[in-house]
Amino acid sequence: MLSLKARITELRRRIERHNRLYYEANRPEISDAEFDRLVKELARLESEHPEFASATSPTQRVGERPQKEFKSVRHLVPMLSIDNTYSKEEIAEFDERTRKNLKGKRLEYVVELKIDGVSLSLIYEKGKLRRAATRGDGQWGDEVTENIRTLAGIPRTLGGSRVPGEIEVRGEVFLPKKNFLALNAEKGRLGEELFVNPRNAAAGSLKLLDPALTAKRGLSFFAHGVGRMDPGFVKTQAELLAHHELCLDLQAVYRLCELWEAKKDSLEYAIDGLVIKVNDLEAQQFLGTTHKSPRWVIAYKFPAEKAKTKLLGISVQVGRTGVLTPVANLEPVFLAGTTVSRATLHNEDEVKRLGLKIGDWVLVEKSGEIIPQVIEVIKSRRTGKEKAFALPKKCPVCGSAVVREKEEVATRCVNLGCPAQLKAKLIHFASRKAMDIEGLGDVLAAQLVDKGLVKGFPDLYLLKKEALAGLERMGDKSAVNLLAGIEQSKKCELSRLLFGLGIRHVGENAARALGRHFGSMPALLSASDDDFEAVEDVGEVMAESLREFFANEDNLRILKRLETLGLNMTEPRKKAAASPFSGKTYVLTGVLKGFTRDEASRRILDLGGKVSSSVSQKTEAVITGADPGSKWQEAQKLGVKILTEEDFKRLLT
Ligand SMILES: [Zn+2]
Repeated sequence: MLSLKARITELRRRIERHNRLYYEANRPEISDAEFDRLVKELARLESEHPEFASATSPTQRVGERPQKEFKSVRHLVPMLSIDNTYSKEEIAEFDERTRKNLKGKRLEYVVELKIDGVSLSLIYEKGKLRRAATRGDGQWGDEVTENIRTLAGIPRTLGGSRVPGEIEVRGEVFLPKKNFLALNAEKGRLGEELFVNPRNAAAGSLKLLDPALTAKRGLSFFAHGVGRMDPGFVKTQAELLAHHELCLDLQAVYRLCELWEAKKDSLEYAIDGLVIKVNDLEAQQFLGTTHKSPRWVIAYKFPAEKAKTKLLGISVQVGRTGVLTPVANLEPVFLAGTTVSRATLHNEDEVKRLGLKIGDWVLVEKSGEIIPQVIEVIKSRRTGKEKAFALPKKCPVCGSAVVREKEEVATRCVNLGCPAQLKAKLIHFASRKAMDIEGLGDVLAAQLVDKGLVKGFPDLYLLKKEALAGLERMGDKSAVNLLAGIEQSKKCELSRLLFGLGIRHVGENAARALGRHFGSMPALLSASDDDFEAVEDVGEVMAESLREFFANEDNLRILKRLETLGLNMTEPRKKAAASPFSGKTYVLTGVLKGFTRDEASRRILDLGGKVSSSVSQKTEAVITGADPGSKWQEAQKLGVKILTEEDFKRLLT
């Protein structure tokens, strides 16, 4: 058994990691249900053992940290997260609590679909959209007004006879299933990493640095509440919403839960549960909030799909970084649309925590398109013949002793010459998004390593046709082609090499950002942590990992050799596209003949410019159509350049 303290530490580390994968990388590895279980377990341990409580524990925070590429803005009213439940019992407890707090006042619930999207706050002043921001950490979010302006589903002006002086609308930005599938199909064609689910695709799309790209993704918006509003403007939650159902009692709530769980696949967008809110806004106010969540709302999340199957064995994989990963080999079982026969077990502690033995019946879970997880052992079905499992003390491939560092959950083979690691590294190095060497896949990588032809990346560039032609399934012609591919790869841009080197935490996008930012290997080598962190897509963890990588003598030697062998170590630095619009802000006013306002904006955005709704000293020019409004006067007052539609057209060409 792990000590309590160790378990708490491990939970915190895992939650932090999954938080990062989810919010920063938009690439979760575990289901929401699994994540919530980790958080719940941690919260329980912390409340039972307050001596281990910590202000920095992930239980004390909600959601993501704002990303630095976007301006941080403070929310008028904190955007709290909603408590999740997975069972009717917990809904009943919520109901009981709420009734007690309301002291017998009449209570009705409004039930909404819980769209699997990204929370957004929209502030309207006198009916005009002034600011859009993501939830961020609940207090501070990222301002995404420019990206949001490109969304068809978000009105820039509120209509109707009653327009509040100020209102903050909250809702979810989401990607309809159809657009999600199309986006992933396109990414597949380009050989890019796919989004795991529609929500992550929505998050990624919203945070594109170029609003014109966001516009192409086809995001939608669903409003579900208000943050701040003129007092008394509306009285119930139901008045705020177009899509909802009112429930007078718990039975009606349960019926809706069952109904929508059965019907969820027929919707055009992904939902992962229902949100149950107290309808009366005054009662909501009265109930108030805890430090993390409002007391008047609870989310019922549909259970992830589960299946029972048998654990036939546990194999151990050795990855690129030497980490030993136990993998469950399962009796094939049909689950959430696919046949599952393998599931990751993460690490040795996870196997221990589950109490997993080979031969056990287990419960496997899969939600969305996420990797299946073993979540529970069905101990009642044990026969006594099950066998305990321990990670080998030696690397199953090279036989070197394995190491597990004190503060780490991972066990590693630290033999730099380990063939398993080397094979995995070569495959990654040659992959399409890295050096793109055709023909160098797993079969060939294994042969090159096993025959001793390649002991590191530089050896690839010293391969001779004669040696290659002697390999299995390798004729003269394939050998020539392979050598041509290897030769060609020398020209790859720096970013591909960076990605191919397999530096921890450095993915394709970060590698590209680094390449464009620094422009050359020497510039990278002399960069400080702060220099790294100044690059878009690079956070603290990655900066640390880069620093470690470039401080390692062996790595430096390899880089030197690659350079001597003629590999390109440069990349054109990112410069603003050569257009008269790049980096400049324009304001549109009046009616244009040749364009709608949207088209004109999009053209400017496409060419690297910005469009603003108000004139200031920073405005490059005001583009003026017929019947210009006050912006034209403003421009004259500030001495800002005024362009006619003809001038604008000339600039566009
Ligand atoms: Zn090894």
